[in-house]
Amino acid sequence: MTETIPVRRPSAARAAWILANERRYDIEGPNAAWGPLPYSQVKKWIAYSPQCIGNHSDRARPPADRHAWLCGDCTDGIRRDLFTLAGCWDFLGEMLQRGPGKQGERSGSNENAAAPLDLNVADVRRQIQSWACSMLEHVAHDLPAMSMPDELSAPKMLAWLGRWHTFYIATHPQDSFPAAVLVELSDMVGKVRAMSFPDGARRRPISTRCLRYVPAVEDQDPVICGGRLSALIRERTDPRGSEIVCETNPSHVIPEYEWLALLKAKQRRQA
Ligand SMILES: [Zn+2]
Ligand SMILES: [Zn+2]
Repeated sequence: MTETIPVRRPSAARAAWILANERRYDIEGPNAAWGPLPYSQVKKWIAYSPQCIGNHSDRARPPADRHAWLCGDCTDGIRRDLFTLAGCWDFLGEMLQRGPGKQGERSGSNENAAAPLDLNVADVRRQIQSWACSMLEHVAHDLPAMSMPDELSAPKMLAWLGRWHTFYIATHPQDSFPAAVLVELSDMVGKVRAMSFPDGARRRPISTRCLRYVPAVEDQDPVICGGRLSALIRERTDPRGSEIVCETNPSHVIPEYEWLALLKAKQRRQA
């Protein structure tokens, strides 16, 4: 059964207002004299590069998608990084409260004392939050009629960008925009990973894939994560114990005791 979605056509006055308020961009090449044009008009005149400008070695640079600066893999990578950052937001909040180097420890006698905040985690959270805000501003200047997410929290903004605007990023009139997004996302995801896999712990990859569900975003169904899992082996004296961690989403953590119980159940079934 197909449903027709009613298209609300903008009135002529509204269309004119949108064009007048879109950010303007210069055109390069023979048509430069047309002067700066609104976002939606200049996009028709962009000479996109035939090859992806993403992070590939020059010899193995794949073709870009049509009317885009990036190949499908790089655009998917942006979406994945945005959802990764959205997914780890709560986890970073928990890490923030635990304080530096004292994960899992909480003084039992003094529950109400404020835990020292981990300033590194606070910095990364601030970076992610302000990055997401500046991305929304960017969208709003290019597309003034675009409706914004109903809640301006970092995870909601990141999921909104990942759900609706990866193509916007990949096809932006200026190639410097997707190029910067790729660098900034990999910087933030790298920092989050470095925090969730702290030094001093050995990591051993295991063959099972992550079975946690990625929460549903907007109208999409939840999907199984499928990220690579590693055993994170800590010193015996480390109060955090060893864990199984997911490389895609740092909030997908299976504590050691749960993992051992799963293995035992599997062995029993096979016996
Ligand atoms: Zn690419
Ligand atoms: Zn996972």
